[in-house]
Amino acid sequence: MTLKTMAAFALFFLLFPFICFGAELDGALRHSLQVKVDIQGRSITGTDRIALEKGTSELSLILRSGSEVTRVEGGSADLPFETREGRGFREITVKVPPGDMLREITVHFRGTFQSPKEAESQIKRGVAYIEDGIIGEEGVFLPSSSFWYPQNRDFTVFEAVVTLPAGYSSVMEGELTDRRIDASTVVERWIEWKPVDGIDLIAGRYKIEKDTHKGVDIYTYFFKEDASLSRTYIDKTKEYLDTYSELLGPYPFGKFAVVENFLPTGYGMPSFTLLGSSVIRLPFIPDTSLGHEIAHNWWGNSVFIDSSLGNWSEALTTYTADYLFEKKKGGDKAREFRAAKLRSYKNFAEESPISLKDFRDSTSTESRAVGYNKGVMVFNMLEAHIGEAAFRDGLKRFYAANAFKRASWADIQAAFEAASGSSLDWFFDQWLKNTGGPALTLADAQTIEADGKHIVSFRVEQAGTAYALDLPVRIETASGPVWRTFSIKSASAELTAELDSKPLSIELDPDYQNFRILSDAE
Ligand SMILES: [Zn+2]
Repeated sequence: MTLKTMAAFALFFLLFPFICFGAELDGALRHSLQVKVDIQGRSITGTDRIALEKGTSELSLILRSGSEVTRVEGGSADLPFETREGRGFREITVKVPPGDMLREITVHFRGTFQSPKEAESQIKRGVAYIEDGIIGEEGVFLPSSSFWYPQNRDFTVFEAVVTLPAGYSSVMEGELTDRRIDASTVVERWIEWKPVDGIDLIAGRYKIEKDTHKGVDIYTYFFKEDASLSRTYIDKTKEYLDTYSELLGPYPFGKFAVVENFLPTGYGMPSFTLLGSSVIRLPFIPDTSLGHEIAHNWWGNSVFIDSSLGNWSEALTTYTADYLFEKKKGGDKAREFRAAKLRSYKNFAEESPISLKDFRDSTSTESRAVGYNKGVMVFNMLEAHIGEAAFRDGLKRFYAANAFKRASWADIQAAFEAASGSSLDWFFDQWLKNTGGPALTLADAQTIEADGKHIVSFRVEQAGTAYALDLPVRIETASGPVWRTFSIKSASAELTAELDSKPLSIELDPDYQNFRILSDAE
């Protein structure tokens, strides 16, 4: 579905809020949530109006264990449903009576969640990602991974009306369209008609700052102790939105919010990022992690990964954020960045059995060394091979062709092949499927002098799997350094270079342009 038709779809809903069916949006299911949060009781009660596809006879929904469906309404009657216990979740099956008239059902649900203290002890035990929901005085953290609302399919469009005790504010995907406050409650309405792969509900006692930049609402939701950091975060957000809109394609959402979390997290959700207090206060975060999380709005949060086919989004986000920031600083920064990625790979993943296509999530240092470090180096080599102009065109093509769809490495390959006009089968094949990487050694360097020229010859050997490489070589000569890039295709490559002055030494890829296993000396 194009953005244009999606806009029309949204308008249709806004004009006809109560007859808005047409449940399917490229596979997205429409939820209309009403949720009331009880902070003291650490619980929620809610209803979810779910649009049915024509001809639905049965609907299966997933809700976390510890939550329950209390009633299902369809039309004017209650509908029967069955509950089956799964591992950490419940599967609710609703029987829909035959007939064409029933276009939506309303599911009543409630649940009680863990306290912030319980979650903190999980973090102390080393749990990287808190999947279950948390409610406490400190705030509310209900990620879609907790199945806090009845979920059915991976893509969702939604509206949600959230009721919280006075003093709290909510943050969700989408745009805040209404906020009403009385003596005891805050009622907020969120809408997102672009598909998301789950709905998150966050809340806290926030001091909210809002700005607008080229039609995008920019917010900070910070605890009052950190409110003075707001301006910096808002200004940096504007810069990133401009940078990435230019580099990749228009920012896909109507708002972006930087949200403080009472847990020490660094999560990027569609249209907001959730950063722990200890993270937000670090002075370098606006120049580093903030940009990384904003780049995820393109990679991962609007072009979605298909986890069965591998997670490419960390590699591409690391390239578009962390690596480009270092490149922009100039000097030796980009080279140091590449060297650090290769060293970290050697330290944590040299013997790893994980190939880049098998990288799924960043649960270990080893998997991060593959998904982020090897991944960013693969994009660096791709850029060197096809040239900067084709590389930038490839990024834009990949985004335009895959926004609000699931995409795989094959889609990335297709975009860069179209941009470069060349087949890149060999490139993606060797870098995605193989574990490890090439380890290069230099052998048999010799020089002969003829007609005032110096002919240097040497051999580059690769142990194990032979890779095709564009290998930069630096030859130090009596009159200064000379650079040559050799195209290597085999395990043992005989190379020669003709020089004007006497060669003194040879270094293979001294600027760390290739993904490779560093020698111990490096
Ligand atoms: Zn990331």
